[in-house]
Amino acid sequence: MKKYKIAIIKGDGIGPEIIDEAIKVLDAVSINSDCEFSYKEYLMGGNAYEITGDPLPHETIEGCKNSDAVLFGAIGGEQWDSLPRDKRPESGLLRLRAALDLYANFRPVKVYEELVDASTLKREVVEGVDLLVMRELTGGLYFGEPREKGEDKAFNTMVYSKREIVRIAKMAFESAQKRRQKVCSVDKANVLEVSQLWRETVEEVAKDYPDVSLSHMYVDNCAMQLVRDPKQFDVILTGNIFGDILSDEASMISGSIGLLPSASVGGVVGLYEPIHGSAPDITGQGIANPIATIASASMMLRFALGEVEAADKIDRAIDRVLKEGYRTKDISSFGAKEICSTTEIGSIIADYASK
Ligand code: NAD
Repeated sequence: MKKYKIAIIKGDGIGPEIIDEAIKVLDAVSINSDCEFSYKEYLMGGNAYEITGDPLPHETIEGCKNSDAVLFGAIGGEQWDSLPRDKRPESGLLRLRAALDLYANFRPVKVYEELVDASTLKREVVEGVDLLVMRELTGGLYFGEPREKGEDKAFNTMVYSKREIVRIAKMAFESAQKRRQKVCSVDKANVLEVSQLWRETVEEVAKDYPDVSLSHMYVDNCAMQLVRDPKQFDVILTGNIFGDILSDEASMISGSIGLLPSASVGGVVGLYEPIHGSAPDITGQGIANPIATIASASMMLRFALGEVEAADKIDRAIDRVLKEGYRTKDISSFGAKEICSTTEIGSIIADYASK
């Protein structure tokens, strides 16, 4: 029996509600498989600030480093928005990504057939979309120094080293090899020197992956192409700020923010989390959709732990639940047979995943 140590960060808002369902499903899937999970909870975000005065206590970093993978819900809330930058919930997450050296963010976007009509785009545009946005996560404009906010002038710095570009590009090509062998690298090389280095470096890395075709696209064009013809994309490789914006845009192709998982990897331990935030507007009502978090747990099994069969079971259980018409409130207008609470839909997925 293989035993895995999972660090759990529930976070703020709906974080605890959705993580509880993911744990329920992991426990269910372990029943008929040869793996077992032990969980240890750590604090991060607004709740961590309230209890310890720090949105990322040292113990959380150490606990994550000593685990096999980290499963995370969401953080944030209005009550912490006026704190100084280093005390705000999101600074906890940024610091954790840096501490774990999570330089690559994977955001797969898959459109479930039953929910095609949840997209604001036309059925023929979104049907069959299956793409992966790979965003560089620990460099670029969000981390570049110097940075300063003055009274009349403020600035940030966009900086990438060749080393940072090479390592994320390699990951994109390796992912494309397992998919449809296409990488589209997105930059702003017509204007930015940093993008010119990005483009040259990606070209060099591409030489080691002759089976993968590489194209380049300016970020403004990519923003248009994602809504014009998203099916043209397989792997989109891009830097931190472009990836932040494009991955949110790409997620909307699927129509619901409550369905999409993500993984941040690179260092020894990866972080798996839904793409959405802490949804304070629906916290505590029992209506949050836990599917994105459950799908993140599946990504964790597949990529961090190599438990492909168990991951497949979870993915099939999610597909079945959607096919059979079980819906949480956020997607209740699309083919619902039964409207479920967060815990109800989690229990049905857990039941199907245990078989
Ligand atoms: P959000 O993703 O929390 O919510 C946007 C909308 O989507 C809301 O109407 C919400 O109710 C809905 N929604 C989100 N997740 C859902 C789910 N699982 N099921 C059903 N509906 C869902 O984004 P926001 O409102 O812009 O941000 C709220 C807080 O979350 C802010 O403090 C923000 O900083 C934080 N945030 C955190 C993360 C993270 O933890 N990784 C990511 C984004 C935003």
